[in-house]
Amino acid sequence: MRSKLVAGNWKMHGSLTENEALLGALRGGLGSAAPSECAVCVPFPYLAQAQRLLQGSAVAWGAQDVSEHAKGAYTGEVSAAMLRDLGCRYVLVGHSERRAMHAEDSPLVARKLRAAQSAGLVPIVCVGETLAERERGVTDAIVSEQLGAVIDGLGVGVFAQAVIAYEPVWAIGTGKTATPEQAQAVHTTLRRLVVQRDPGMADSVRILYGGSVKASNAKELFAMPDIDGALVGGASLDPKEFLAIWRAAS
Ligand code: PEP
Repeated sequence: MRSKLVAGNWKMHGSLTENEALLGALRGGLGSAAPSECAVCVPFPYLAQAQRLLQGSAVAWGAQDVSEHAKGAYTGEVSAAMLRDLGCRYVLVGHSERRAMHAEDSPLVARKLRAAQSAGLVPIVCVGETLAERERGVTDAIVSEQLGAVIDGLGVGVFAQAVIAYEPVWAIGTGKTATPEQAQAVHTTLRRLVVQRDPGMADSVRILYGGSVKASNAKELFAMPDIDGALVGGASLDPKEFLAIWRAAS
């Protein structure tokens, strides 16, 4: 059976002072035995702070991107082994902001996922369609291509140690959430893609929903049979909101 995961994506927000308060509130709010998992994906410079403040707590931490390379002359890049050194459990790969603003295509996302797993991280691979694509009726084709690049390149077995996040681009940071039924329909497509290759994974692969998740809409999203948690952007910066979302999953 799948346990739910609520992961925060801080994007390029935070400061040492602000983080101290936010991480302290999360640590205190979760207690030690959490029924659902909770994680925060913070900017690279704050990973050491997250490690220091969250170690021994029920809150895991991770990064928002990783290099496809293991080491070498790649100025500005951060390797998966470096993230492990800082105690990361999770790393986002293929977030739509990176696909759109850093020209990351699906084969590169698959290579990043492989690099992350090789170092023992659990990648959260993000897929999702733009508004124009949804309006053209090609949502399933888009997310199938994005996930298919991972499955074709690396095999479906990678999802034993990876999480999928469905994040419709039109819902990210816009306040427009997919309805539970819209999200459930795409999650069904994604789960089917995995299950077609390995029926044994039907019950284990975790698929999160992301896109303007808030305390006020989390419960109805989590009630859907194929929604196994959330990837939360804006609301993850507010400890009250984020903890309420995590509670809704618990
Ligand atoms: C995200 O950036 O992954 C995200 C889901 O953002 P928001 O919750 O702000 O829409």
